[in-house]
Amino acid sequence: MSSLIEENPAADNQETERAVQVLDHGFVELVDAMGTDLTVVNSARVSFGKRKKELSDGDKKLIKYLAEHKHWSPFRHVQLQFHCKVPEFVARQWYKHVVGISYSEAPTNDHAWNEISLRYVDASEFKFYTPDGFRKQSEDNKQASTDELVKDPDGKLLAEYRNHCQKSLDIYHHLLEHGVAREQARGVLPLNIYTEFYWTASLQALVNFIQLRQHAGAQYEIRLYADALAQLTRQVVPVSFEALLGQPAH
Ligand SMILES: Cc1cc2nc3c(=O)[nH]c(=O)nc-3n(C[C@H](O)[C@H](O)[C@H](O)COP(=O)(O)OP(=O)(O)OC[C@H]3O[C@@H](n4cnc5c(N)ncnc54)[C@H](O)[C@@H]3O)c2cc1C
Repeated sequence: MSSLIEENPAADNQETERAVQVLDHGFVELVDAMGTDLTVVNSARVSFGKRKKELSDGDKKLIKYLAEHKHWSPFRHVQLQFHCKVPEFVARQWYKHVVGISYSEAPTNDHAWNEISLRYVDASEFKFYTPDGFRKQSEDNKQASTDELVKDPDGKLLAEYRNHCQKSLDIYHHLLEHGVAREQARGVLPLNIYTEFYWTASLQALVNFIQLRQHAGAQYEIRLYADALAQLTRQVVPVSFEALLGQPAH
C-alpha cells in the first residue's frame, strides 16, 4: 500500500483539472462532488412539485434570487470533498470553520474532516513549508504582515529557518531511536510541517470559508488555499458559486 504522500496529486507541479498546487509542497484536490447548479434549482423547485432536467436562463435567475434573499438551504445540497495538504498553521486556521449552516437558529455541523495522524505515521517523509522570503510584521495590525519583505540578501535567515526544521527532525528521530512514542516525539516538530486531510463541506460552508479567507485581512498562505478552493468549486457549480460569492460575507 503506497502512502498518501507518494500519491500527492499535485506533485512536481503536475497540476490537473482537479488538483491545484499551493505553496511549495501543498495542494488542494477535488476528490468528489455531489450536485450541480441543477441540484440547487431542483431543491428549490420541489416546493412547487417541479423538477428540471436542464439548466435554463430562468433557473440561473432563480439561483441568483435564492442567494440574494439568503435562501441558503438549496445550496447545502451540493457537497464537495477535497484532499488538502497544508502547513500545520494553516490547518489550525482552517479547522475553525466548523459549521456549514449560516443564519440558522439551529446550526448543524455539516462539514467532515479526517486527517493524517502522527501517532500512526512516522514524520520522516513529511515536508516543511519554506516561504520564498519573510514578510515584515504589520505595525498597524497586530495579527498581520505587510507585503514588504525583510532584507535577507545572503539568505541567512532562510538558512536558519531551514536548519531549525532539519534539527527538529533530527531530535524527533533521536527520540524515536530511544523508544519514545511517536505521539510524544512529534511535539518537537514546528508549525510549518505539512499535514493532510480530507474535508467535505456544503457549498454554503465553502463560500463562507472562501469569503473569509480570501479577504485581505487573512494570512497570505491561507488566502492561496481559498483561491484554490474557489478555482475547483467554480468548475462544479459555476452559477451558484458566483451568485453566493456576490453576496456580502456573513
Ligand atoms: C482574518 C481572520 C482572523 C481570525 N483570527 C482569529 C483568532 O485570532 N483567534 C481565533 O480563535 N479565531 C480567529 N479567526 C477565526 C474566526 O473567529 C472563525 O472561527 C472562523 O473564521 C470560522 O468562521 P465562521 O464562524 O463563519 O465559520 P463556522 O464556524 O463554520 O460557522 C459558519 C457560520 O455558521 C453560523 N454559526 C456558527 N455557529 C453558530 C451558532 N452557534 N449559532 C448560530 N449561528 C452559528 C455563523 O453564521 C457562521 O458564520 C479568524 C478568522 C479570520 C478570517
